[in-house]
Amino acid sequence: MSNGLDFGDRTDFDNADRGFVSALTPGVVTASDGRVVWDADSWSFLAADCPDTVNPSLWRQSRLCARQGLYEVAEGIYQVRGLDISNMTIIEGDTGVIVIDPLLSVETAAAAFGLYRAQRGDRPVTAVIYSHSHADHFGGVAGVTDGNVPILAPVGFMEHAVAENVYAGTAMTRRAGFMYGVTLPTGPAGQVGFGLGLASSTGTVSLFPATVHITRTGQEETIDGVRMVFQLTPGTEAPAEMNFLFPDRRALCMAENATHNMHNVLTLRGALVRDARIWSRYLTEAITMFDGRADVLFASHHWPTWGHDNMMRFLSEQRDLYAYLHDQTLRLANQGHTGSEIAEMIQLPPALGAAWHARGYYGSVSHNVKAIYQRYLGWFDGNPASLWQHPPVETAKRYVDCFGGVEAILTKASDYLAAGDPRFAAQLLQHAVFADPRHGDAKELLAQVYERLAYASENGVWRNFYLTGAQELRYGPTITPVDLGAGMAAVLSVEQIFDTLAIRVDAPKAWHDTIVIDWTFTDLGESYRTTLRNGVLLQQQNVPAGQPDLSLFLTKRDLLGVLAGHGLGGIAYDGEIDALRRLLGHLDAPDPSFAIVTP
Ligand SMILES: [Zn+2]
Repeated sequence: MSNGLDFGDRTDFDNADRGFVSALTPGVVTASDGRVVWDADSWSFLAADCPDTVNPSLWRQSRLCARQGLYEVAEGIYQVRGLDISNMTIIEGDTGVIVIDPLLSVETAAAAFGLYRAQRGDRPVTAVIYSHSHADHFGGVAGVTDGNVPILAPVGFMEHAVAENVYAGTAMTRRAGFMYGVTLPTGPAGQVGFGLGLASSTGTVSLFPATVHITRTGQEETIDGVRMVFQLTPGTEAPAEMNFLFPDRRALCMAENATHNMHNVLTLRGALVRDARIWSRYLTEAITMFDGRADVLFASHHWPTWGHDNMMRFLSEQRDLYAYLHDQTLRLANQGHTGSEIAEMIQLPPALGAAWHARGYYGSVSHNVKAIYQRYLGWFDGNPASLWQHPPVETAKRYVDCFGGVEAILTKASDYLAAGDPRFAAQLLQHAVFADPRHGDAKELLAQVYERLAYASENGVWRNFYLTGAQELRYGPTITPVDLGAGMAAVLSVEQIFDTLAIRVDAPKAWHDTIVIDWTFTDLGESYRTTLRNGVLLQQQNVPAGQPDLSLFLTKRDLLGVLAGHGLGGIAYDGEIDALRRLLGHLDAPDPSFAIVTP
């Protein structure tokens, strides 16, 4: 392997194995109905040498991620790794344990905690810490506690935990299906992991609200005799995130701000773009704040780093990485280059390029550079030719016309492929498929091109996008069997529930209708007025003057029931109940299996 990568360096493997206590055997976690939600044993194929269907660097990373079980990180600090996409960390206190980041699913969290207890006894959970607002760091919480303990989280946690997946939830979920390869078979020609971990569990997502908010850097808390010092890092890897030190244990938790891969400035499932500048700035602050105060650094993905110099080098290089991407992207943007150009121009300095923890298994130089360009300058590259392009199908028809038919495009694409340019072959074939989605040869050739791109890709997410694309070209779109918003409905605020309704209004159907409804939530003591007009559903808290068409007196649970189609049973009202039926009749349903690789 080129790129200056040292495959003989065993440090990561030593660290991933260090402190091993016991594994889950068999490595299978099931739901109460018997459905398998995690199968660590399905990754045993990674024990073999790298096949020619996987990039060797990605294969190496997946082998590291495939280690599973309970590990001792330091005295009284344990991690369960490899039983979900993320790590559960357990800090032993005076009377029980503090659980950091209880995985994504209730089932995997319960299994992970059971593995710990089997070795260390039935210690009670005395507190939970959510390091940040992503579901793989809180979704399993009901698997370790009933919620009647302090739950610590960075300020803004609840809003962001819920909000990120709500408004564009269906689109994100569909794209996440591609990103995580959830419909791909696990194996050398399929899903092999995506750098941050091997896969996401598919169990039950839960969420107990945070009760202790960390609101400032330097804040200290002591729970169960365990002292903690927090560093808030909003706007880094997540909008609400924090690092924290256990000063008496000399251990530092870096949440997901410094892990063993280049992370995403913009996750390819879609999200608000992150801020690489702030990210690097907070890593500098962490270095300053925690230098000399810890002997081990761990995070909520991957394996720990032991020893002062190793930790400082790791943090410094991670910091340099995000700063470099940010600054060099803007340097080149200010010289007139666009995102897609800069993505090809940027080269990492040799020391970062050769650092295993900076490799682009999850994020990539290519898509992170485009994300930074997007953050500052947006989708438009400034060239008027890009301003008003035809959408994909109309563009495709015109390309086919220019080439003289789909067959001619296929011939050209095969030539480019043979000449070692699968990227352009894919661009050409995309036009053929979008112009004629029933053309089997075009779809099959594009599927083969995607496979070739996948097998060469060091980035696990890119691999999954290509392979899922190939699969759907052959077999059609599938429904992603993972719902990013699952379990979230009950914790939505009324404002967010009305927002989600507004997003579903089929405006052209509704724009001649005007409907005013007052909603009094008897459980919350809150009242809202919604007004449908001009195809928009407006909301305001505290009902203004003026007569509504309908007044409803209900609980938030009733509202969720109505929206789930459970009817109006028991809901008190005053006025024209037909107004509610009309409003519901104007709502559209999102499409969980919309086509991506075909029109
Ligand atoms: Zn995570």
